[in-house]
Amino acid sequence: MGTELAQPRVRGRLFAACVAGLVLLLAGCSSAEFMESVAPRSLPPSRGAVTVTNLGVSGLLIDDGATQIVIDGFLTRPDKGLLSPMAPDLKTIRAWLNDNRMRAFHCAVPAGGGTCTEEERRGVSLVVAAHGHYDHALDTPTVAALTGSWLVRDDWIDEITRASEAYFGNAVPAEAWAALRSHGLASASKGSPPVEHRAGAFTVTLIPTLHVDYPGVRLLRGVPDVGFSFPTRLFAMKEGNSLSVHVAHPAGSLLVVPTFGVPEAPAERLRAEVVFLGIGFAGWKEPTERIRVWQQTVGRSGAHRVVLTHWDNNKGSISAETGGALKPLGVLRLDRSWKSFCALASGMVDMRFAPAGVAVDPFIATTAPSVGCP
Ligand SMILES: [Zn+2]
Ligand SMILES: [Zn+2]
Repeated sequence: MGTELAQPRVRGRLFAACVAGLVLLLAGCSSAEFMESVAPRSLPPSRGAVTVTNLGVSGLLIDDGATQIVIDGFLTRPDKGLLSPMAPDLKTIRAWLNDNRMRAFHCAVPAGGGTCTEEERRGVSLVVAAHGHYDHALDTPTVAALTGSWLVRDDWIDEITRASEAYFGNAVPAEAWAALRSHGLASASKGSPPVEHRAGAFTVTLIPTLHVDYPGVRLLRGVPDVGFSFPTRLFAMKEGNSLSVHVAHPAGSLLVVPTFGVPEAPAERLRAEVVFLGIGFAGWKEPTERIRVWQQTVGRSGAHRVVLTHWDNNKGSISAETGGALKPLGVLRLDRSWKSFCALASGMVDMRFAPAGVAVDPFIATTAPSVGCP
């Protein structure tokens, strides 16, 4: 009897605790202040000696008008739930070639025969996945195969490449995959020194980097121990090697840090005018950790500008028609990160965003006011 009387009260408390927890969770996950700053702080569409197009998440298309570099290039962005099977979407990836945003690889001296020096590489000439997670590497081998590019490879990227070839069958010509097998570039792994490649006027340096740590990502470390095939699920696409990418060009240098972690290289290898910094799950870190990673990336690079990436919801096609707008991934607690980054950037670094699907000049002089920070 006593137990029965107590039950409604217990249930009531439980309900109240759940509501309070939900309110706290939603408050902790707020991204309103962050999102208010995105549009006014976005770099304007612009042509410079080098342009960068934000491909969503941490993906970038870097272009000097002759040679193009693709980092990640997660273009499929499946709309279905993250736990549904996924595979690269050929139509979406081909659209980037069909409208000439990505140009097919060719040699600047076409009559030169079989050899093409690194300096002569034109069109998409280097494709690299920052690591093996689906939101980075799902489409990378297919982008490289369809463009005829060179691909940064290790055993896990080779496995994703094999799975992509098997999945598409005749839909992608066998010659494209055969060419890709002879267009491999060495990757960098933890504990190893940075690895440098040339492509046209670009020098691209791969730097081992610690992936941001949070409970969910620990399930995604390493590489799969059994065979891998498409369609697949999020949890099958393991991290493999995590990289940052330094891109040097006569027009200026960029440091791309796709995950909120520290690149394993001395400061002189990180020097850049602009850092593209992935901030996913930074909001779950202690403020001291946000400061540490910022100092180890933006601080050590000496950059005067930082462009924040890897905060969107990974869904929906990327196109200039949507005005470059991306939707936030609420669970990232972007407002918490934003407060820290405002304090860190204040008076020191120009903090910006890059509109999705739109070419911008990363080195352009600041034209928009720095609004949104207290
Ligand atoms: Zn990741
Ligand atoms: Zn990611």
